[in-house]
Amino acid sequence: MPVPSTPETAPIRPVDDPQARAEAARLLRAGRLVAFPTETVYGLGADATDENAVARIFAAKDRPRFNPLISHVPDAMSAFALGEATPAAERLAAAHWPGPLTMVLRRRTGCPIAWLTSAGLETVALRVPGSAAARALLAEAGRPIAAPSANRSGRVSPTTAAHVAEELGDRVALILDGGPCPVGLESTVVDLSGARPRLLRPGAVTREQLEAVLGPVELAVAGDAIAAPGMLASHYAPQAAVRLNATDRRPGEAFLDFGATRGDADLDLSRSGDPVEAAARLFASLRDLDRPGIAAIAVAPVPEAGLGAAINDRLRRAAAPRG
Ligand code: AMP
Ligand code: MG
Repeated sequence: MPVPSTPETAPIRPVDDPQARAEAARLLRAGRLVAFPTETVYGLGADATDENAVARIFAAKDRPRFNPLISHVPDAMSAFALGEATPAAERLAAAHWPGPLTMVLRRRTGCPIAWLTSAGLETVALRVPGSAAARALLAEAGRPIAAPSANRSGRVSPTTAAHVAEELGDRVALILDGGPCPVGLESTVVDLSGARPRLLRPGAVTREQLEAVLGPVELAVAGDAIAAPGMLASHYAPQAAVRLNATDRRPGEAFLDFGATRGDADLDLSRSGDPVEAAARLFASLRDLDRPGIAAIAVAPVPEAGLGAAINDRLRRAAAPRG
């Protein structure tokens, strides 16, 4: 499905205007992209439970790879309905939510956040933003809103509505303007899904502030991120082997097609060959085919154009030798 056509440049409306927020909430529920201010930076928002809407985030940003996105919610209760509360998470929520802090928690059973939003992981990243207007928008949207920074890939994060209009004005349905972001730095990301808290990204809440609540917090080592492609804690890979650019189906394999090349495929990322649709289905499809008795998932070639590059990046990681 193509990215819905948007006007040349999206309208910019004040986030403090309840009618503008109502329109933004309606657009978000309809699967459209809306840029909105938080206290950290402007976010490029989409319904986190709608994999097609989330795929459009990656397309709009020209992101070369899928990284897990933060889902924004209006209060801690909404967050703990999605991710598993732990005593540490509850203490941290009491101390720093609303605020520039993101917690990575284990995904609760039945959590509606799309697999693309969490890049296939069993964890979800959640934040209750400090900005009251942002929380009002989230409450009105009535569902978690995935929102990376509202800039094209490789550019700096926007801290004014004018920056957002320059970066993505032709790719969003609406820009909400809340003036300059007071913090201007990304949120701190802390992982509470494991035995010990780990700081994944330094940000507006300092390690010292975290440690005052949690006790010792480990730093995620930079080397973690490159040690073993496809096998990192922060990267989902199926149990089954993955064979790329497959044109045939071998014994014991499941076949994941793209563009309806075979009549006997188990699943097709996009029968019409649309990379945005394929991105939306990628993680859910890999999970679905990753069953006992399946030795490997054979994946048809996916052209590099548009989101194809990000799809191939993730497939190559999933196919990389594991040790
Ligand atoms: P951004 O979307 O640019 O604000 O970046 C989101 C940050 O949160 C990135 O550093 C992600 O790697 C991190 N993140 C989001 N979800 C998870 C998760 N489930 N596990 C680990 N890190 C996450
Ligand atoms: Mg960013």
